[in-house]
Amino acid sequence: MAKETADFIVIGGGIAGASVSYELSTHGKVVLLEMESAAGYHSTGRSAAVMSENYGPALWSRLVTASRSFLEQPPEGFTNVSLVTPRGALFLAREGEEAQFSAQAEELVRRGVTIEQASAEEALRFCPVIRTDAFVRAMYEPDCMDIDTEALLSGYLKLFRSRGGQVVTKAKAERIVRSGGVWTVSTPKGTFEAPVVINAAGGWVQEVATLAGLSYRNVVPFRRTAVTFGPPAGSDIHTWPMTFDVAETFYFKPEAGRIMVSPVDMSPSEPCDAQADELEVAIAIDRIHTFTTMEVRTVKHKWGGLRTFAPDHEPVIGADPEEPSFIWLAGQGGNGVMGGCCGSPPRR
Ligand SMILES: Cc1cc2nc3c(=O)[nH]c(=O)nc-3n(C[C@H](O)[C@H](O)[C@H](O)COP(=O)(O)OP(=O)(O)OC[C@H]3O[C@@H](n4cnc5c(N)ncnc54)[C@H](O)[C@@H]3O)c2cc1C
Repeated sequence: MAKETADFIVIGGGIAGASVSYELSTHGKVVLLEMESAAGYHSTGRSAAVMSENYGPALWSRLVTASRSFLEQPPEGFTNVSLVTPRGALFLAREGEEAQFSAQAEELVRRGVTIEQASAEEALRFCPVIRTDAFVRAMYEPDCMDIDTEALLSGYLKLFRSRGGQVVTKAKAERIVRSGGVWTVSTPKGTFEAPVVINAAGGWVQEVATLAGLSYRNVVPFRRTAVTFGPPAGSDIHTWPMTFDVAETFYFKPEAGRIMVSPVDMSPSEPCDAQADELEVAIAIDRIHTFTTMEVRTVKHKWGGLRTFAPDHEPVIGADPEEPSFIWLAGQGGNGVMGGCCGSPPRR
Protein backbone atom coordinates (compact mmCIF):
# COMPACT_ATOMS: atom_id res chain seq x y z
CA MET A 1 0.00 0.00 0.00
CA ALA A 2 1.29 3.46 -1.01
CA LYS A 3 2.75 5.76 1.59
CA GLU A 4 3.16 9.41 0.64
CA THR A 5 4.45 12.50 2.33
CA ALA A 6 3.22 16.06 1.78
CA ASP A 7 3.24 19.47 3.44
CA PHE A 8 -0.57 19.61 3.69
CA ILE A 9 -3.30 16.97 3.60
CA VAL A 10 -6.73 18.34 2.68
CA ILE A 11 -9.67 16.06 3.56
CA GLY A 12 -12.71 16.62 1.34
CA GLY A 13 -13.02 17.33 -2.39
CA GLY A 14 -15.94 19.78 -2.40
CA ILE A 15 -15.58 23.47 -3.16
CA ALA A 16 -13.93 24.14 0.22
CA GLY A 17 -11.28 21.45 -0.21
CA ALA A 18 -10.65 22.28 -3.88
CA SER A 19 -10.24 26.02 -3.26
CA VAL A 20 -7.94 25.64 -0.25
CA SER A 21 -5.86 23.03 -2.09
CA TYR A 22 -5.41 25.47 -4.97
CA GLU A 23 -4.40 28.28 -2.59
CA LEU A 24 -2.00 26.10 -0.58
CA SER A 25 -0.33 24.60 -3.62
CA THR A 26 1.89 27.68 -3.94
CA HIS A 27 3.15 27.05 -0.40
CA GLY A 28 4.06 23.38 -0.53
CA LYS A 29 3.06 19.89 -1.61
CA VAL A 30 -0.66 19.25 -1.13
CA VAL A 31 -2.59 15.99 -1.26
CA LEU A 32 -6.38 16.27 -1.51
CA LEU A 33 -8.26 13.18 -0.26
CA GLU A 34 -11.86 12.59 -1.42
CA MET A 35 -13.84 9.57 -0.29
CA GLU A 36 -16.15 9.45 -3.34
CA SER A 37 -15.11 8.54 -6.88
CA ALA A 38 -15.40 12.18 -7.99
CA ALA A 39 -14.97 15.59 -6.40
CA GLY A 40 -18.11 17.65 -5.83
CA TYR A 41 -20.43 14.66 -5.36
CA HIS A 42 -22.07 15.94 -2.15
CA SER A 43 -23.17 19.52 -1.27
CA THR A 44 -21.12 21.26 -3.94
CA GLY A 45 -22.87 19.38 -6.74
CA ARG A 46 -26.35 19.98 -5.31
CA SER A 47 -26.55 23.72 -4.70
CA ALA A 48 -28.82 26.34 -6.22
CA ALA A 49 -25.61 27.83 -7.63
CA VAL A 50 -26.44 31.41 -6.87
CA MET A 51 -24.38 34.28 -5.50
CA SER A 52 -26.28 36.93 -3.58
CA GLU A 53 -24.74 39.49 -1.26
CA ASN A 54 -27.95 39.44 0.77
CA TYR A 55 -27.75 35.78 1.77
CA GLY A 56 -26.48 34.26 4.97
CA PRO A 57 -25.24 35.68 8.27
CA ALA A 58 -23.00 38.76 8.59
CA LEU A 59 -19.54 37.25 8.16
CA TRP A 60 -20.59 34.99 5.34
CA SER A 61 -22.21 37.76 3.38
CA ARG A 62 -19.00 39.78 3.68
CA LEU A 63 -17.04 36.80 2.34
CA VAL A 64 -19.48 36.71 -0.57
CA THR A 65 -18.79 40.36 -1.32
CA ALA A 66 -15.04 39.63 -1.09
CA SER A 67 -15.40 36.67 -3.49
CA ARG A 68 -17.19 38.62 -6.21
CA SER A 69 -14.09 39.89 -8.03
CA PHE A 70 -12.55 36.40 -8.20
CA LEU A 71 -15.75 34.98 -9.69
CA GLU A 72 -15.96 37.80 -12.21
CA GLN A 73 -12.26 37.72 -13.10
CA PRO A 74 -10.72 34.36 -12.26
CA PRO A 75 -6.97 33.83 -12.67
CA GLU A 76 -5.43 33.19 -16.08
CA GLY A 77 -6.05 29.65 -17.29
CA PHE A 78 -8.76 28.96 -14.70
CA THR A 79 -11.62 28.45 -17.15
CA ASN A 80 -12.74 29.12 -20.73
CA VAL A 81 -16.29 29.98 -19.69
CA SER A 82 -17.73 32.74 -17.58
CA LEU A 83 -18.02 31.57 -13.96
CA VAL A 84 -20.98 33.87 -13.35
CA THR A 85 -23.95 35.08 -15.35
CA PRO A 86 -26.46 37.75 -14.34
CA ARG A 87 -29.50 36.43 -12.49
CA GLY A 88 -30.80 39.18 -10.18
CA ALA A 89 -32.50 38.50 -6.87
CA LEU A 90 -35.89 39.62 -5.65
CA PHE A 91 -36.67 39.71 -1.91
CA LEU A 92 -40.29 39.90 -0.84
CA ALA A 93 -41.64 40.95 2.56
CA ARG A 94 -45.06 40.25 4.03
CA GLU A 95 -46.90 42.46 6.48
CA GLY A 96 -45.06 42.40 9.81
CA GLU A 97 -41.69 41.78 8.15
CA GLU A 98 -40.95 45.43 7.28
CA ALA A 99 -38.35 45.92 10.04
CA GLN A 100 -36.35 42.87 8.92
CA PHE A 101 -36.67 44.03 5.32
CA SER A 102 -35.42 47.54 6.14
CA ALA A 103 -32.49 46.19 8.18
CA GLN A 104 -31.41 44.03 5.22
CA ALA A 105 -31.72 46.96 2.81
CA GLU A 106 -29.68 49.26 5.09
CA GLU A 107 -26.92 46.68 5.53
CA LEU A 108 -26.68 46.13 1.76
CA VAL A 109 -26.43 49.85 1.08
CA ARG A 110 -23.76 50.13 3.80
CA ARG A 111 -21.72 47.43 2.02
CA GLY A 112 -22.10 49.21 -1.32
CA VAL A 113 -24.43 46.59 -2.85
CA THR A 114 -26.78 48.01 -5.48
CA ILE A 115 -30.44 47.52 -4.61
CA GLU A 116 -33.74 48.88 -5.82
CA GLN A 117 -36.75 49.03 -3.52
CA ALA A 118 -40.22 48.59 -4.95
CA SER A 119 -43.82 47.85 -4.05
CA ALA A 120 -45.11 44.32 -4.59
CA GLU A 121 -46.96 45.48 -7.72
CA GLU A 122 -43.82 47.08 -9.13
CA ALA A 123 -41.96 43.83 -8.50
CA LEU A 124 -44.05 42.18 -11.21
CA ARG A 125 -41.74 43.70 -13.78
CA PHE A 126 -38.95 41.53 -12.38
CA CYS A 127 -41.00 38.39 -11.80
CA PRO A 128 -44.46 38.34 -13.36
CA VAL A 129 -45.83 35.36 -11.41
CA ILE A 130 -45.73 36.58 -7.79
CA ARG A 131 -49.03 37.02 -5.97
CA THR A 132 -48.80 40.72 -5.13
CA ASP A 133 -51.52 40.55 -2.46
CA ALA A 134 -49.26 38.32 -0.35
CA PHE A 135 -46.47 40.91 -0.04
CA VAL A 136 -46.07 44.56 0.97
CA ARG A 137 -42.47 45.36 0.00
CA ALA A 138 -39.92 44.19 -2.55
CA MET A 139 -36.21 44.71 -3.08
CA TYR A 140 -34.29 43.88 -6.24
CA GLU A 141 -30.56 43.07 -6.19
CA PRO A 142 -29.47 43.31 -9.85
CA ASP A 143 -25.94 41.99 -9.26
CA CYS A 144 -27.01 38.58 -7.93
CA MET A 145 -25.48 35.98 -10.26
CA ASP A 146 -25.74 32.34 -11.23
CA ILE A 147 -22.48 30.49 -10.66
CA ASP A 148 -21.21 27.76 -12.95
CA THR A 149 -20.29 25.51 -10.03
CA GLU A 150 -18.85 22.78 -12.22
CA ALA A 151 -16.52 25.26 -13.96
CA LEU A 152 -15.53 26.76 -10.61
CA LEU A 153 -14.70 23.39 -9.07
CA SER A 154 -12.88 22.08 -12.11
CA GLY A 155 -10.96 25.37 -12.51
CA TYR A 156 -9.60 25.04 -8.99
CA LEU A 157 -8.70 21.38 -9.49
CA LYS A 158 -7.13 21.93 -12.91
CA LEU A 159 -4.76 24.66 -11.67
CA PHE A 160 -4.12 22.73 -8.46
CA ARG A 161 -2.98 19.69 -10.48
CA SER A 162 -0.93 21.88 -12.81
CA ARG A 163 1.05 23.05 -9.76
CA GLY A 164 1.83 19.46 -8.83
CA GLY A 165 -1.12 18.94 -6.46
CA GLN A 166 -2.52 15.44 -6.15
CA VAL A 167 -6.23 14.55 -5.96
CA VAL A 168 -6.84 11.05 -4.61
CA THR A 169 -10.41 9.81 -4.97
CA LYS A 170 -12.00 6.79 -3.23
CA ALA A 171 -9.65 7.76 -0.41
CA LYS A 172 -11.80 8.05 2.69
CA ALA A 173 -9.79 9.22 5.70
CA GLU A 174 -10.49 6.32 8.05
CA ARG A 175 -7.78 6.78 10.64
CA ILE A 176 -6.08 10.05 11.60
CA VAL A 177 -3.22 9.94 14.09
CA ARG A 178 -0.69 12.58 15.14
CA SER A 179 2.71 11.49 16.39
CA GLY A 180 6.09 13.25 16.46
CA GLY A 181 4.65 16.39 14.85
CA VAL A 182 3.25 14.49 11.85
CA TRP A 183 -0.31 13.51 10.97
CA THR A 184 -0.79 10.07 9.43
CA VAL A 185 -4.05 9.68 7.52
CA SER A 186 -4.97 6.13 6.51
CA THR A 187 -7.28 5.56 3.54
CA PRO A 188 -8.17 2.61 1.28
CA LYS A 189 -5.78 4.19 -1.25
CA GLY A 190 -2.81 4.23 1.09
CA THR A 191 -1.32 6.23 3.91
CA PHE A 192 -0.52 9.94 3.74
CA GLU A 193 1.68 11.94 6.08
CA ALA A 194 1.96 15.71 6.60
CA PRO A 195 2.54 18.14 9.46
CA VAL A 196 -0.77 19.93 8.73
CA VAL A 197 -4.27 18.59 8.05
CA ILE A 198 -7.11 20.73 6.65
CA ASN A 199 -10.56 19.49 7.53
CA ALA A 200 -12.80 20.41 4.57
CA ALA A 201 -15.09 17.39 4.81
CA GLY A 202 -18.42 19.29 4.57
CA GLY A 203 -21.13 17.35 6.41
CA TRP A 204 -18.46 15.04 7.79
CA VAL A 205 -16.20 17.66 9.43
CA GLN A 206 -17.28 16.74 12.95
CA GLU A 207 -16.68 13.04 12.20
CA VAL A 208 -13.20 13.81 10.82
CA ALA A 209 -12.28 15.92 13.88
CA THR A 210 -13.45 13.12 16.16
CA LEU A 211 -11.33 10.64 14.18
CA ALA A 212 -8.36 12.93 14.82
CA GLY A 213 -9.07 12.70 18.54
CA LEU A 214 -10.19 16.32 18.93
CA SER A 215 -13.08 17.74 20.96
CA TYR A 216 -16.66 18.01 19.73
CA ARG A 217 -17.25 21.43 18.10
CA ASN A 218 -20.89 20.99 17.02
CA VAL A 219 -20.37 21.71 13.31
CA VAL A 220 -23.09 19.50 11.89
CA PRO A 221 -25.17 18.95 8.75
CA PHE A 222 -28.80 19.82 8.01
CA ARG A 223 -30.71 18.54 4.99
CA ARG A 224 -32.28 20.81 2.38
CA THR A 225 -34.70 19.72 -0.35
CA ALA A 226 -35.01 21.09 -3.88
CA VAL A 227 -37.50 20.39 -6.67
CA THR A 228 -37.79 21.36 -10.32
CA PHE A 229 -40.94 21.61 -12.39
CA GLY A 230 -41.96 22.86 -15.85
CA PRO A 231 -42.52 26.62 -16.24
CA PRO A 232 -45.88 28.16 -17.22
CA ALA A 233 -46.56 27.57 -20.91
CA GLY A 234 -45.33 30.36 -23.18
CA SER A 235 -43.42 32.25 -20.49
CA ASP A 236 -39.89 33.50 -21.03
CA ILE A 237 -38.40 32.54 -17.70
CA HIS A 238 -34.74 33.05 -18.42
CA THR A 239 -34.77 36.68 -17.23
CA TRP A 240 -36.60 35.92 -13.97
CA PRO A 241 -34.62 36.54 -10.80
CA MET A 242 -33.97 34.23 -7.88
CA THR A 243 -37.01 35.09 -5.76
CA PHE A 244 -36.86 34.79 -1.96
CA ASP A 245 -39.14 35.83 0.86
CA VAL A 246 -37.31 37.68 3.63
CA ALA A 247 -38.87 35.36 6.22
CA GLU A 248 -37.03 32.52 4.46
CA THR A 249 -39.87 30.11 3.79
CA PHE A 250 -39.13 29.54 0.08
CA TYR A 251 -37.06 30.53 -2.92
CA PHE A 252 -37.43 29.77 -6.59
CA LYS A 253 -35.39 30.49 -9.74
CA PRO A 254 -35.11 29.47 -13.38
CA GLU A 255 -32.85 26.45 -13.76
CA ALA A 256 -32.00 24.99 -17.17
CA GLY A 257 -35.42 25.75 -18.65
CA ARG A 258 -37.31 24.68 -15.53
CA ILE A 259 -38.20 26.32 -12.23
CA MET A 260 -36.27 25.20 -9.17
CA VAL A 261 -37.96 25.69 -5.80
CA SER A 262 -36.87 24.94 -2.27
CA PRO A 263 -39.00 25.17 0.89
CA VAL A 264 -35.68 26.13 2.56
CA ASP A 265 -36.00 23.24 4.99
CA MET A 266 -33.32 22.69 7.55
CA SER A 267 -33.63 19.28 9.21
CA PRO A 268 -30.80 17.87 11.32
CA SER A 269 -29.19 14.98 9.45
CA GLU A 270 -26.48 12.43 9.80
CA PRO A 271 -23.67 13.01 7.30
CA CYS A 272 -24.99 10.96 4.36
CA ASP A 273 -25.94 10.87 0.69
CA ALA A 274 -28.90 13.19 1.34
CA GLN A 275 -32.19 12.62 -0.48
CA ALA A 276 -35.25 14.84 -1.01
CA ASP A 277 -37.77 14.63 1.83
CA GLU A 278 -41.28 13.89 0.49
CA LEU A 279 -43.04 16.15 3.00
CA GLU A 280 -40.70 19.00 2.02
CA VAL A 281 -41.41 18.34 -1.66
CA ALA A 282 -45.13 18.81 -0.89
CA ILE A 283 -44.38 21.99 1.09
CA ALA A 284 -42.29 23.36 -1.80
CA ILE A 285 -45.20 22.84 -4.20
CA ASP A 286 -47.63 24.41 -1.74
CA ARG A 287 -45.40 27.52 -1.43
CA ILE A 288 -45.42 27.92 -5.22
CA HIS A 289 -49.23 27.66 -5.26
CA THR A 290 -49.59 30.08 -2.31
CA PHE A 291 -47.14 32.79 -3.35
CA THR A 292 -47.18 32.65 -7.15
CA THR A 293 -49.66 32.18 -9.96
CA MET A 294 -47.73 29.14 -11.24
CA GLU A 295 -49.10 25.61 -11.10
CA VAL A 296 -46.88 22.62 -10.46
CA ARG A 297 -48.26 19.84 -12.66
CA THR A 298 -45.34 17.43 -12.52
CA VAL A 299 -42.20 17.35 -10.45
CA LYS A 300 -39.39 16.85 -12.96
CA HIS A 301 -36.56 16.31 -10.53
CA LYS A 302 -36.00 16.44 -6.77
CA TRP A 303 -32.91 16.15 -4.65
CA GLY A 304 -31.52 16.67 -1.19
CA GLY A 305 -28.24 18.10 -0.02
CA LEU A 306 -26.44 18.85 3.22
CA ARG A 307 -25.68 22.31 4.54
CA THR A 308 -23.32 22.27 7.49
CA PHE A 309 -23.47 24.83 10.25
CA ALA A 310 -21.81 25.87 13.48
CA PRO A 311 -24.37 26.98 16.09
CA ASP A 312 -24.00 30.68 15.08
CA HIS A 313 -24.11 29.81 11.33
CA GLU A 314 -20.88 31.73 10.73
CA PRO A 315 -17.80 30.19 9.04
CA VAL A 316 -15.53 27.87 11.03
CA ILE A 317 -12.14 28.69 9.56
CA GLY A 318 -8.84 28.33 11.37
CA ALA A 319 -6.75 26.21 13.68
CA ASP A 320 -8.43 23.93 16.18
CA PRO A 321 -8.04 25.51 19.65
CA GLU A 322 -6.48 22.27 20.94
CA GLU A 323 -4.24 21.45 18.00
CA PRO A 324 -2.93 24.26 15.77
CA SER A 325 -1.86 21.86 13.01
CA PHE A 326 -5.49 20.77 12.47
CA ILE A 327 -7.21 23.46 10.42
CA TRP A 328 -10.99 23.71 10.04
CA LEU A 329 -12.50 24.95 6.77
CA ALA A 330 -16.07 24.22 7.66
CA GLY A 331 -19.57 25.45 8.41
CA GLN A 332 -20.14 26.65 4.82
CA GLY A 333 -23.91 26.46 5.37
CA GLY A 334 -25.70 27.94 2.38
CA ASN A 335 -22.81 30.15 1.28
CA GLY A 336 -19.99 27.75 0.48
CA VAL A 337 -20.01 28.11 -3.30
CA MET A 338 -20.57 31.87 -3.44
CA GLY A 339 -18.38 32.83 -0.49
CA GLY A 340 -15.35 30.61 -0.80
CA CYS A 341 -13.38 32.41 -3.50
CA CYS A 342 -11.83 35.22 -1.47
CA GLY A 343 -8.54 33.47 -0.76
CA SER A 344 -6.51 35.11 -3.50
CA PRO A 345 -6.69 38.44 -5.30
CA PRO A 346 -8.35 38.47 -8.73
CA ARG A 347 -6.49 38.92 -12.01
CA ARG A 348 -5.69 42.57 -12.60
C1 LIG B 1 -30.18 22.59 -1.90
C2 LIG B 1 -28.95 23.42 -1.63
C3 LIG B 1 -28.84 24.67 -2.22
C4 LIG B 1 -27.68 25.45 -2.02
N1 LIG B 1 -27.56 26.61 -2.69
C5 LIG B 1 -26.40 27.33 -2.59
C6 LIG B 1 -26.21 28.50 -3.37
O1 LIG B 1 -27.07 28.91 -4.17
N2 LIG B 1 -25.02 29.14 -3.25
C7 LIG B 1 -24.03 28.72 -2.38
O2 LIG B 1 -22.99 29.35 -2.29
N3 LIG B 1 -24.20 27.62 -1.64
C8 LIG B 1 -25.36 26.91 -1.73
N4 LIG B 1 -25.53 25.77 -0.98
C9 LIG B 1 -24.49 25.42 -0.02
C10 LIG B 1 -23.26 24.84 -0.69
O3 LIG B 1 -23.63 23.77 -1.53
C11 LIG B 1 -22.28 24.36 0.40
O4 LIG B 1 -22.03 25.42 1.31
C12 LIG B 1 -20.95 23.92 -0.18
O5 LIG B 1 -21.12 23.09 -1.30
C13 LIG B 1 -20.15 23.19 0.89
O6 LIG B 1 -18.95 22.76 0.30
P1 LIG B 1 -17.98 21.77 1.07
O7 LIG B 1 -16.79 21.60 0.23
O8 LIG B 1 -17.83 22.25 2.48
O9 LIG B 1 -18.82 20.41 1.21
P2 LIG B 1 -18.99 19.20 0.18
O10 LIG B 1 -19.25 19.67 -1.20
O11 LIG B 1 -20.01 18.28 0.77
O12 LIG B 1 -17.57 18.50 0.19
C14 LIG B 1 -17.11 17.78 1.28
C15 LIG B 1 -16.43 16.55 0.72
O13 LIG B 1 -15.75 15.85 1.77
C16 LIG B 1 -15.78 14.49 1.42
N5 LIG B 1 -15.47 13.72 2.64
C17 LIG B 1 -16.22 13.64 3.76
N6 LIG B 1 -15.63 12.85 4.67
C18 LIG B 1 -14.45 12.44 4.12
C19 LIG B 1 -13.40 11.60 4.57
N7 LIG B 1 -13.43 11.02 5.79
N8 LIG B 1 -12.36 11.38 3.75
C20 LIG B 1 -12.30 11.94 2.49
N9 LIG B 1 -13.30 12.73 2.03
C21 LIG B 1 -14.35 12.98 2.82
C22 LIG B 1 -17.17 14.28 0.88
O14 LIG B 1 -17.26 13.11 0.08
C23 LIG B 1 -17.39 15.55 0.10
O15 LIG B 1 -17.09 15.42 -1.28
C24 LIG B 1 -26.65 24.97 -1.16
C25 LIG B 1 -26.77 23.71 -0.57
C26 LIG B 1 -27.89 22.93 -0.81
C27 LIG B 1 -27.98 21.58 -0.17
